[in-house]
Amino acid sequence: LFRHENVHAVQQEAESIVTALSAPLSVSNGETLYPEFRVGIALAPRDGSKADELIDRARQALAHPTNRQAAFFSKAVDIQMQEDRRLESALREAIENDELEFHFQPVVDTGTWRVVGFETLARWLHGPDGKPVPPGRFIPIAERSQLIVALGALAMEKSVWQAAQWAKDGHTGLRISLNVSASQLRHSGFLKDATALLKPGGVALASNRIAFEITESLLVNNIEETRKLLLQLNQLGFLLYLDDFGTGWSSLSYLHTLPFHTIKIDKSFVRPIAEDSKIYGIARTIQACADMLELDVIAEGVENHAQLALLQQMGCRNVQGYLTGRPVSAHEATRLLEGKAVIPMTGTD
Ligand code: C2E
Ligand code: CA
Ligand code: CA
Repeated sequence: LFRHENVHAVQQEAESIVTALSAPLSVSNGETLYPEFRVGIALAPRDGSKADELIDRARQALAHPTNRQAAFFSKAVDIQMQEDRRLESALREAIENDELEFHFQPVVDTGTWRVVGFETLARWLHGPDGKPVPPGRFIPIAERSQLIVALGALAMEKSVWQAAQWAKDGHTGLRISLNVSASQLRHSGFLKDATALLKPGGVALASNRIAFEITESLLVNNIEETRKLLLQLNQLGFLLYLDDFGTGWSSLSYLHTLPFHTIKIDKSFVRPIAEDSKIYGIARTIQACADMLELDVIAEGVENHAQLALLQQMGCRNVQGYLTGRPVSAHEATRLLEGKAVIPMTGTD
C-alpha cells in the first residue's frame, strides 16, 4: 500500500482486507468454511527499504502474540495504537459520565476593549491517569472513533445554554463560536442538532449569536456537499467562521462563494508578525481581502503588545489570545463579563 497518511489509515485498510477475506465460503460438498486471517504490517522506510526486509518484518509482526487482526512490526507503533484504544474507551466513558468541560476564550474588540464573544474549547481535565489530556491529543481520537459527534453535541448544548444565560443576565450581543470537525459536520445529525436549538422550547438565543468554526481542510473534500450544508446553516441564521486561515489551501474562492462571516487568521501568522515584515505583509493582505469582501477578522494567538499594535495598525478589530485572556471556565468567563475580572493588558512582551 502506498502513501498512507498515518498508521491508523494503514490499520483500517488492513482490517478491511481481513473483513473482505473472512466472508464465509460455500464449498462443493455443501459445507461452509469460515476463513480466518491476520495481517502483519511493516512500514517503509522505517522498518526496512527492501522488499524482502519488509516481508520479513511483517512476518515477525504476525508471529507476535496478539489478538488483533492487524499487527505492526514496531513495538512502539503497537504500543501507540494500544494507548489510543485505551484513551478512546476512557473518552467514551468521560462523555457518558459528563466529565468533559467546556472552557471559553474571550474574543476582544480592540476599539472598545470589550469582550464581543467566546470560543468554546473542550477540556478533559481528569484523563485515565487523573491528569488533563490536551485537546490536540483527544480530539483526533474522537474524530477517528465518531465520538466527536457526541462531544460536539455536548459542546453545542452546553455553550449555547451558557450564552443564553449570559444574554438573560444582560450580556447581550455576545457571539459564541464552536469548533466543528469534518466527521461531525458530515454526520447526518448535525443539521438536526443545530436546528433543534432554535425550536420553541430550545435555547433563548438567536441563531446569529451562534457561530460554527470550520477549517479549510474540511472544505477540500466533498466541497459540493459541504457547500449545501453551509448554505443551509447560513439560511437558518448561524454564522460561519473560517478557522486557521492561511494554514490550508487558502483558496480565495471559498471566501466569496461560501457564506462565511468571519476569517480567523491563524496563530502562525500572528506569532512572528512583529519580527517578520513579510508575514506582516501577508496578514495585511488577508485583512484587505476581508475588508473588500465585508468579512470580519479575528486574529488568533495574540500574546504580546507588539503583535497587538501591528494588528491594530492594519485594521484588525478582533483579537483572541493569551494577551486578552486564556480559555477559562464558565464561572470565570461570567466574572470577566461582570467586570470582576479584568482583561489582562500586561501580556508577555
Ligand atoms: P483551535 O480551534 O485553533 O483553537 C485555538 C487554540 O489555540 C486553543 O488550543 C487555544 O487554547 C489556543 N490558544 C489561544 N490563545 C493562544 C495564544 O495566545 N497562544 C497560543 N500558543 N495558543 C493559544 P486548544 O484548546 O488546545 O485546542 C486545540 C484544538 O483542538 C483547537 O484549535 C480545535 O481545533 C480543537 N478543539 C478544541 N475543542 C474542540 C471541540 O469542542 N470540538 C472540536 N471539533 N474541536 C475542538
Ligand atoms: Ca477554532
Ligand atoms: Ca484556530
